[in-house]
Amino acid sequence: MTHEVVVVGGGIGGLTVSALLAARGVDVCLLERQSRPGGCVAGVEKFGYSFDPGVGLYPLWQAGEIHAQVFSELPVAAPEVFAANPAYLVRLPDQSEVSITVNTEQFEAALVATFPECAERAVGFYQESAVVCEALRSALRRVPNLHAAGSTNQIFALLPDIINAGRIIKARNHTTLDHLSGTSLRFRRFIDAQLQLLAQATSQECEYLYSTLALNIARRGNFSIRGGAPALAETLADSIKASGGRIRFDTPVLRLAYDASGQAVGVDLLSGERVNASRAIVSNLTLWDTYGKLIGLNHTPSEIRKSLNNLRTSGVYLLYLGMSEAAASRIPNNHILVVTDWQQADEYYPEVSQFMFAAAPAEDRRAPAGRRAVTMLTFSDVDQWFTFQENEEQSEEKDQSVLDAWWQRLHQAMPELGGDIEVIDTATPRTIYDLTRRKLGMVGGLAGTSAPFDSNIINYQTSLPNVFRVGDTAALGGSIAAVTHAARLLANHLTESIL
Ligand SMILES: Cc1cc2nc3c(=O)[nH]c(=O)nc-3n(C[C@H](O)[C@H](O)[C@H](O)COP(=O)(O)OP(=O)(O)OC[C@H]3O[C@@H](n4cnc5c(N)ncnc54)[C@H](O)[C@@H]3O)c2cc1C
Repeated sequence: MTHEVVVVGGGIGGLTVSALLAARGVDVCLLERQSRPGGCVAGVEKFGYSFDPGVGLYPLWQAGEIHAQVFSELPVAAPEVFAANPAYLVRLPDQSEVSITVNTEQFEAALVATFPECAERAVGFYQESAVVCEALRSALRRVPNLHAAGSTNQIFALLPDIINAGRIIKARNHTTLDHLSGTSLRFRRFIDAQLQLLAQATSQECEYLYSTLALNIARRGNFSIRGGAPALAETLADSIKASGGRIRFDTPVLRLAYDASGQAVGVDLLSGERVNASRAIVSNLTLWDTYGKLIGLNHTPSEIRKSLNNLRTSGVYLLYLGMSEAAASRIPNNHILVVTDWQQADEYYPEVSQFMFAAAPAEDRRAPAGRRAVTMLTFSDVDQWFTFQENEEQSEEKDQSVLDAWWQRLHQAMPELGGDIEVIDTATPRTIYDLTRRKLGMVGGLAGTSAPFDSNIINYQTSLPNVFRVGDTAALGGSIAAVTHAARLLANHLTESIL
């Protein structure tokens, strides 16, 4: 079997690039090892609940933004979305709360009221960050692959806004922490927790430029997707089929297939079948799995091999909860980012000090009558889930002890829930590995910790000329919007240059 483009993996990245190529008339075939689409955000169905593994932060659904741009080309309607403002609320260990709202006056007033000890600096930090974010977004509109562009194109992208170009160039090697001087530890933790959630890095680790995008984009408007992110994945799969593209589920790919000259010609499936690609092969696997599994380490240049060893993303431990409507009426927002401990030491350990509580909205409860589906996301060091358990029983014990600890923290931080909430299921990094085959179950992107938008990492190119990458470790951020943006860039590149 031969197709023009073969895509390995049906996460949001693989689905989006396939949907766009199929809509443009390309003969595309997507191969997915699971029986349904979505990867990290494939839906979880249990006891009448339909859980969204995502935590309901879906920005950039406004007219003209990335999702509208993609769906304007597709033969299917976009999933229904509705505004969800404030995007989320941050609850701090002293129970003070800040709503992350679109309205700047309200937002700044909340900063002043919550952080009186450094009000001016806190407001100043956000004001500066918003200006840099807008300047970067304008530059990205002029040169959509700014991060991977050569220096001439980067200058072209930045030059029309000469004042902010200077700001951006000056901040190229700064961490976010460099811009937090004069703020209190409380304010720093407020930023640390958000950056960990949005950029998978704390203020000490997160590149300042990237943090401006992460902190400001959801604040400009957040949306709920009816059916959650799994509905987006299903819609993209429908679009591929409606355009005449092919999706094969339950089809694990073993590795790339090479001809005698060493050129990649297609993929070998676990079943022994070969699927040929006459034009291009796209990997929706992570950066390390693309090289480690598909391309193969003997075809990987040594400098890439070395850099892969040092790259890490976060692990997560998820609690899928069922909440009564009575409890839903007592919580101040559907999306609450909770910081449970200030941690006085310099470093911040998100694994023990924060969680995201994301309830399905009233318009889309995804639950049996009178209930709501809730996804609670906590961070977890991945190694401990793979190193210490020798058998299934030990894994379950570990799962239970982590669950007990988070259950206690949940009730301490959100006493208004009372007994009106129950655990339906959990997902550990091992579960995520089983579902997606991402190494050690690591999730999220690399942009937060990549030297200003490192073009070697944040890029669809690989070391092979006809093999490309898509997904959160190839995108300017570990979010659905960033993955979609990167998938559209790749689709444009393939239709313009290769096909
Ligand atoms: C718990 C959680 C909550 C999140 N919440 C949000 C949120 O609220 N908002 C937001 O914008 N983003 C959120 N994200 C981030 C976002 O969902 C992910 O970054 C995005 O879905 C990743 O997509 P991807 O294209 O990288 O593919 P992945 O999801 O990694 O999918 C890759 C696919 O490849 C398949 N595959 C792997 N190996 C093979 C093989 N050998 N052969 C065939 N197929 C293979 C896998 O089965 C999988 O389907 C969240 C992520 C997680 C984990």
